Amino acid sequence: AIQITGLNKWYGLLQVLHDVNLTVTQGERLVICGPSGSGKSTLIRTVNALEGFQSGEIKVAGLRLTREPAVVEEIRRRVGMVFQQFNLFPHLTVLENCALPLRLVRGLSAAEARDRTMHYLSKVRIPEQAAKYPAQLSGGQQQRVAIARAVAMQPEVMLFDEPTSALDPEMVKEVLDVMVALADEGMTMAVVTHEMGFARQVADRVIFMDAGRIVEQGPPTTFFTAPRSDRTKAFLRQVL
Ligand code: ATP
Ligand code: MG
Repeated sequence: AIQITGLNKWYGLLQVLHDVNLTVTQGERLVICGPSGSGKSTLIRTVNALEGFQSGEIKVAGLRLTREPAVVEEIRRRVGMVFQQFNLFPHLTVLENCALPLRLVRGLSAAEARDRTMHYLSKVRIPEQAAKYPAQLSGGQQQRVAIARAVAMQPEVMLFDEPTSALDPEMVKEVLDVMVALADEGMTMAVVTHEMGFARQVADRVIFMDAGRIVEQGPPTTFFTAPRSDRTKAFLRQVL
């Protein structure tokens, strides 16, 4: 689904991605972890062109990402993204937040967009909140709306950047449960998170990044029980 080859990125003089090579196959669930500033957000943000890069190649479903607006638009249709901050429109209801991109980007009629929105709000277990505004919801509910909005677009891949980091502890589980359900349905996912329980439960592969490089990767069983690099070991001592 995603092929990243020889990716390098600098912010000014600071190189934040060093020769990153990463393939995510259809149906695969990837968890990306690593210390603050290691380039996790930058890496996934380059995939849907929220960040540029200087060299290397990114392909989504075979389409090579360039700066061309038509290509960027096509890639963003295929790649859904959920952020730490939920990024809902405050002046739109939950229903409108989800339905608007379906109408504008997917060209659905008002009725189709509403029906599809309600379907996905049911999946994230908040259909009864459809008429409310984001400020009237808890953080966990807002994040579930953000997930419903992204998944309703029926992307080929979902990218998550620390989706539970801004939540109060009691709301983390309701969001993770929704993500587990999504994984169980076969969604291809790359998730930046420090929720190692989620990684154990869901990930096919865990990637550890440090200083802009992929230092180690493997299935959760070997990643957690037999990490090879000292940096991975030090990181796991902090998060486990
Ligand atoms: P965290 O766990 O704190 O979210 P991260 O692994 O997601 O960290 P990134 O946000 O990708 O790390 O940042 C990687 C590096 O790039 C850091 O050194 C950061 O300071 C730098 N950086 C990020 N965004 C910018 C920017 N817009 N301009 C300049 N430097 C940036
Ligand atoms: Mg980050």
